[in-house]
Amino acid sequence: MSMKVVQCWDDGVNDDIRLTDIFRKHGAKASFNLNPQTHRAERNGGFSERWGKTIERLAKSELAAVYAGFTIANHSQSHPWPTRIPLSDWRDEVFDARKILQDWFQRPIHGFVYPFGDCDAATADVVREAGHCYARTTKNTTPCWPAEDPMFFHPDCHFHKDNFWELYEQAKASNCGVFYFWGHSYEICTEEQWTAMDKQIARITADPDTEWAELPELFGVTTQV
Ligand SMILES: [Zn+2]
Repeated sequence: MSMKVVQCWDDGVNDDIRLTDIFRKHGAKASFNLNPQTHRAERNGGFSERWGKTIERLAKSELAAVYAGFTIANHSQSHPWPTRIPLSDWRDEVFDARKILQDWFQRPIHGFVYPFGDCDAATADVVREAGHCYARTTKNTTPCWPAEDPMFFHPDCHFHKDNFWELYEQAKASNCGVFYFWGHSYEICTEEQWTAMDKQIARITADPDTEWAELPELFGVTTQV
């Protein structure tokens, strides 16, 4: 059985342009998790000292071209801490964002990703009720599949994890059928890291024992990208 490899990337930032070019080059499928309220007429967000470079949310007008051919998932309207705001506000964050993304991309939005990985039973119920078939956390567990509760879908690991390939092989050996990794493109900072990313994606594409898959497929939903 071929293992399905799924990946998703958060926050809709400028480095997604370079990342999606790499994915297209290697025929990799991927999902991008967006916060519609943060995408305005111009790019915004500015310089980030922590990463030593300018990290900006893409302008609204850039989204269609950057993400053409990829899956879009909901990451809430404005990226709050889900469990720290009133549940009614959280409800608006989730429902409004899904509606806007569906309108912008003219397709159903099936996936959700909790901002900061912050979630609990009540916030997850809202996500489920809004019509999503899965919601990703930041709790990493290998193997990630089958997800005990799709509203708490724990990925295998972050893309930068030192033992990424060990976890990848472990998932293959477990015959669980799925390997799921995630990250933010702004975490790729140096040219060496960009080259490493290119090689990481190329190696997965070249692996005869695996195939790229769209996340909603895992839950029986056929996607249109
Ligand atoms: Zn985020």
